[in-house]
Amino acid sequence: MSVIVEQVTKRFTATGTPAVSDVSFHAPSGAITTLLGPSGAGKSTLLRLIAGLELPDSGSVRIEGVDCTHLPVQQRGIGVVFQSYALFKHMTVRENIAFGLETRRQSRADIEARVDEMLRLVQLEELGKRHPGQLSGGQRQRVAFARALAIRPKLLLLDEPFGALDSRVRVELREWLQSLHERTGVTTLLVTHDQEEALEISQHVVVMSEGRVAQAGPPEDIYDRPATSFVASFVGGTSVLRGHVRSGRAEVGSLVMAAPGTAREGEEVHAFVRPHDIKLVKPARGSTEPTTGRVARLKAVGGYVKVLLKLPSGETVTVEVPRAEFDDLGVVEGDCVQADVRMARVFLGDFAI
Ligand code: ADP
Repeated sequence: MSVIVEQVTKRFTATGTPAVSDVSFHAPSGAITTLLGPSGAGKSTLLRLIAGLELPDSGSVRIEGVDCTHLPVQQRGIGVVFQSYALFKHMTVRENIAFGLETRRQSRADIEARVDEMLRLVQLEELGKRHPGQLSGGQRQRVAFARALAIRPKLLLLDEPFGALDSRVRVELREWLQSLHERTGVTTLLVTHDQEEALEISQHVVVMSEGRVAQAGPPEDIYDRPATSFVASFVGGTSVLRGHVRSGRAEVGSLVMAAPGTAREGEEVHAFVRPHDIKLVKPARGSTEPTTGRVARLKAVGGYVKVLLKLPSGETVTVEVPRAEFDDLGVVEGDCVQADVRMARVFLGDFAI
């Protein structure tokens, strides 16, 4: 049930930059694959090309080994859920779920049995007779999933399915989707701009930027080994710092870290440092050791404290310190501190993308 996209290009205007440009990737069978990227990266266009709602200028889309590039939507065996609830307002929940089945000429008894099964699957057994207007946003999206899955799709395509919901419901539905996927095992492609959602839900992530694939791989690789500076900055809320190679090490302001093996003395580098990869140390009273920077701002956010560290160069670095560790640290705004970089991604020269 895998999806293979090969060298797909799609332009909406003859002269402008393509919305999707020479994109190739593979969505493994039975997995949740996320298309992750900022707004305008081409994610929805790519999903619509796979659904058959758009035709590519070149390239191919294969679903389960079958070339579907020019196959009509109805023949692709896919279920789709969009951000806005595309439910029929005048139909009940049951009628909405049955919609795709009615057009497939099944017996009434078979349709009713399948609708019951879908209502159980999305845990809405009690609400079958309601209309969409009588449901919460989260419930409506669950009906949309039931309708998409009722036709036993080979592939489930989800375009920002939780994008219109408030953050608490979003997080709840994220967990719900994972358990739904464990029960159905349907190969799923999810479009999102939310890196946390992508890293948490999926087994495979395709990061997109300006119509192209910036990196594809398991979430751990994307997060721990970003291939380009774009990926490093987009995934992980990192601080971007510039510096130079000195004595084989990358000196970025008052921070020092390992430089890439090919680095030449004096060469420009930029480093991506994640908020939790910096350890702050308060100098002992009377210490003459140089400090790294000054605490410009402190903000408690849930289980950790966000520290804005101002370096002598004027650059700022965001550091996240777990609450308990912060209490032991005992710093206040205005204090000078030392900072150790536990891990950083250092690139030579300018941005890769
Ligand atoms: P994303 O889903 O990553 O936000 P989209 O695929 O929606 O990105 O859009 C990618 C680019 O293609 C954008 O520049 C967008 O304006 C353009 N685009 C998308 N759909 C159309 C369309 N139907 N006509 C013209 N331009 C479009």
